[in-house]
Amino acid sequence: MHKIDVYTMDSKKRYNDYASYLKKHFQNKMQKITIHAGFSCPNRDGKISFGGCTYCNNQTFNPEYCQPNKSITQQIDEGIQFFQKKYPDQRYLAYFQAYTNTYDPLPILIQKYEEALAHPLVDGIIIGTRPDCIDHSLLQYLQQIAKQHYVMIEYGIESTHNETLELINRGHTYEVAEEAIRLTARYGIETCAHLILGLPNESVEIMLSHAQKISQLPLNCIKLHQLQLIKGTKMAEQYTMHPEWFHLFTADEYIELLIQFIRQLNPSFVIERFVSQSPPSLLLTNGWGLKNYEFTAKLEKRMNQLNVHQGDYLLDQRN
Ligand code: SF4
Repeated sequence: MHKIDVYTMDSKKRYNDYASYLKKHFQNKMQKITIHAGFSCPNRDGKISFGGCTYCNNQTFNPEYCQPNKSITQQIDEGIQFFQKKYPDQRYLAYFQAYTNTYDPLPILIQKYEEALAHPLVDGIIIGTRPDCIDHSLLQYLQQIAKQHYVMIEYGIESTHNETLELINRGHTYEVAEEAIRLTARYGIETCAHLILGLPNESVEIMLSHAQKISQLPLNCIKLHQLQLIKGTKMAEQYTMHPEWFHLFTADEYIELLIQFIRQLNPSFVIERFVSQSPPSLLLTNGWGLKNYEFTAKLEKRMNQLNVHQGDYLLDQRN
């Protein structure tokens, strides 16, 4: 069982990076394999709404091998084939990413998770879901399997500001997300929160307040990304009608925002990523033309220049 202690920034970086976190918890090099397990989403099938979140286009979630008409085992095998030549000793975490991966009766969830865990090269599962789609019976089950396997639940919270959540049609409030994260932690299961920076009508102050609010939660990891407008989504339509609702960051502006965010973030959290790069053909506006690692290198260089660390703003305030 892989448990997290409080992090002490031993990664030689100015923030707790995900690669160091994986190194600390696994003997082998680890790689996430994305799976599309054929789940639906209550915000799309009518249980909550038919429209979905205004930015959502699940095409952006998936690599090509990852199709729900293939079995989970086949998707894992094909994902592994992609990496195995270069890293023969690598092991894998099955990442249930597309749609809402806890949205089915428990026996079906168990069957899907256990198919992934039965793969001889898979050491754990990461389950992406909405905070309103968990319950005690699921958490009890995950608590049991977490005794032998790595298990993390990744919650899409996107914003801590309820007006924004309403505008983007998330179908839940921030309080629901808080409750889900606290409950999951009480079961001893690792939690990750996903947030989007740059959602419509959010000022820099509101975005920084996300860092302050989530820092109070029992989270292990966070994932951030800049808002990207995907063609064909409701949000792309809103951008055309109301461009004044949006501020699309340049890469340099986003780096400055991220640095303020990181400085106000709980220093025990691991930051899994900062940006997302959807395929250019899906984007309504031009991307930055930077690969993720190039972006991260620029961010780290700027943190070095400024001599700042994750959470240092919080520590300064305490002293
Ligand atoms: S909850 Fe996820 S899958 Fe469902 S509509 Fe929103 S972004 Fe899309």
